Amino acid sequence: MQPFSYTSPRSAQEAVATFANAGRGARFIAGGTTLYDLMKLDVEHPGHLIDITAIEGLNGIDSSGEHLRFETLALMSAVAADSVVARDYPVLAEALLKAASQQIRNMATVGGNLLQKTRCMYFRNGANGVYPCNKRQPGSGCAAIGGLDRGQAILGASGSCTAVSPGDWPVALLAMDASIEVLGPQGSRTLPVGDLYRLPGNTPHLEFTLEPGEMITAIVVPKSPAGLRSTYHKIRDRESYAFALASAAVALETDGDVVTKARIALGGVATRPWRALDAEQVLIGKRLTPDIALAAGHAAFNDARPGRHNGFKAELGARTIGDALLIASERNRT
Ligand SMILES: Cc1cc2nc3c(=O)[nH]c(=O)nc-3n(C[C@H](O)[C@H](O)[C@H](O)COP(=O)(O)OP(=O)(O)OC[C@H]3O[C@@H](n4cnc5c(N)ncnc54)[C@H](O)[C@@H]3O)c2cc1C
Repeated sequence: MQPFSYTSPRSAQEAVATFANAGRGARFIAGGTTLYDLMKLDVEHPGHLIDITAIEGLNGIDSSGEHLRFETLALMSAVAADSVVARDYPVLAEALLKAASQQIRNMATVGGNLLQKTRCMYFRNGANGVYPCNKRQPGSGCAAIGGLDRGQAILGASGSCTAVSPGDWPVALLAMDASIEVLGPQGSRTLPVGDLYRLPGNTPHLEFTLEPGEMITAIVVPKSPAGLRSTYHKIRDRESYAFALASAAVALETDGDVVTKARIALGGVATRPWRALDAEQVLIGKRLTPDIALAAGHAAFNDARPGRHNGFKAELGARTIGDALLIASERNRT
């Protein structure tokens, strides 16, 4: 690990001002469960860490109003345990509870989770220079393309990068049309969670749309009846403490058995949290049978571009969506 300096500001404004003074080598740090890892792996080398965890009033959870509002330092475990989230928005609670381990969820923040880096092994294990990685070192190449690509993305990949977006939480937030509040040198702004993530294209090292020095302050989820019929279904190599091979966040509104609104987002298969609009369209106006659910799943992968070892993700992903739809549709039936 390279040397770095460290400050611990007392307000969000002070944190942003500190970043502006420190320059591009600065990074915010919250729970540290990702950033410290990457520093130890010699993948990230921030010159200055701005620890935001001492800022008071930035860890609130408000589920009582028109929106659900989670401030950035709210812990993953705390949001999952909120009684309204757990009862009325199982997709959110399940996405959090199926991520990492309880110990990590007790440290990790819901804001930091949105900005975690890919688990692509060529990105994480290649700092010794053996494997090229355009995300880690722009222009060096991509060892995953034509390499060991079982875990790589089949949606949204480019000739420069096929790394999967790793988070579960952003997938659930995307399905629920959440927004992010950020504070930066130019003031505050709000953006849809989907707009936070870039496709890799030719610049896979640019993963997020935040401007330098912008800090996430809160996540806002509009309340919706779709939350009651929602789930986060995650398929992985082992049933706990593993990242998704394929996951689906789904939320439904129905009239009797007929689907009137469907929201579907995918994890584990794409280079960013992926909204499956084609799959949603298959469902509208239809009675949700196992065949229709699976047809919706297959529609999500019409544009899939598998590599050498990850073609199985298209069928796995389709079945994950199909099963998620059936699970969600059984919830809160009167
Ligand atoms: C062993 C292990 C298993 C895991 N398994 C899963 C899993 O199955 N699913 C899953 O989704 N995740 C998983 N994770 C990832 C974990 O959820 C993240 O590490 C965690 O959510 C990151 O939150 P943090 O507060 O610790 O972020 P940090 O490590 O502090 O920061 C992460 C990044 O966000 C930036 N940042 C943090 N807060 C802000 C802010 N407010 N504004 C701007 N930038 C900010 C930092 O600069 C850094 O780049 C796993 C992690 C580990 C170590």
